[in-house]
Amino acid sequence: MCSGRVDLSFVIRALSNGMDGVFIGGCHLNECHYITDGNYHALNMVLLCKKLMEHIGLNPERLKIEWLSAGEGIRFAEVMNDFGNTVKKLGPLGKGEGIDKNELKSRLEEVAKLVPYIKLVKKEKLSSRLENIEEYDGLFTSDEIDRLFREVISYYIDPGQCQACMTCAKRCPAGAVVSVKNQIHVIDQEKCIKCGTCFEACPPRFGAVTKISGGPVPPPVPEGERTIVREGKEKMGEITEVS
Ligand code: SF4
Ligand code: SF4
Repeated sequence: MCSGRVDLSFVIRALSNGMDGVFIGGCHLNECHYITDGNYHALNMVLLCKKLMEHIGLNPERLKIEWLSAGEGIRFAEVMNDFGNTVKKLGPLGKGEGIDKNELKSRLEEVAKLVPYIKLVKKEKLSSRLENIEEYDGLFTSDEIDRLFREVISYYIDPGQCQACMTCAKRCPAGAVVSVKNQIHVIDQEKCIKCGTCFEACPPRFGAVTKISGGPVPPPVPEGERTIVREGKEKMGEITEVS
C-alpha cells in the first residue's frame, strides 16, 4: 500500500503488539505516482511518531522510514539489514529502555487512546509538504509534544445545562455519549476521541458541553439521578423533547 496510508495508529499498534521496531518504505520524495504525495504524509507522521516515542521514553530509532524504488533491490537489502541490526542492538522494546512491561503497556495505551486527538490537533502539520527537506528536522519539537499531552482537551456535559435533546449523541462519531431519552447525557471518557463535535453540535441556547484543558473531568452524574424534571410539564406526565 502507499506509504501515505500508514496511519499513526498502525505504528502504535505494532509497538503495542510487541514489535521491537517498525520500518516503512516509500517511493522517493517528489516521485509520487499520483497527486497525493502520500510519502510526504508518511514522513510527517513518522517525525511526529518519533517525538511521541521519545515522550514515552522509547528510542525513536526503532522507527524508520526510507525512500526506495522498485529497481533498488540491493539497496533495499542493505537498508533492511542496517535497520535489523539497529533494532537488535536496542534490544526488546521497553527492556532496552529500562521500562517495566506494565508501564510500557500503559504508556502505549495512553498514546493509542489519544491518536485521533493528536491527528486532529496536528492536522495541518501532518498534511504539510515543506519545500526544503532540512526544515523537516524542526517540524515537530519535544516541547510541543510535551505541551500537547499536558494541555489535552476533554469534553464534559454540564448536568445543570443538558436538556437531553440528543443532538450530541446523534453526531458523536465514537458512540461516546451515553444517551437516554429525557436523561442528562454523559460522555464516556474512555470512548471519547476528543473530536469536539459535541461541543459544536450542542445548541447554543443550552451550551451544555464544556471544554476542559489539561484538568480533571468531573465525575458523571450517577445513573439513577439523570432524569430531567421539567417544571410545569411533569405534573401532566408530559415531557417535551427539544430538537
Ligand atoms: S468529543 Fe467527539 S468523541 Fe468525544 S463525546 Fe464529543 S463528539 Fe463524541
Ligand atoms: S446536545 Fe447539549 S443539550 Fe443536547 S443532549 Fe447533548 S449536551 Fe445535552
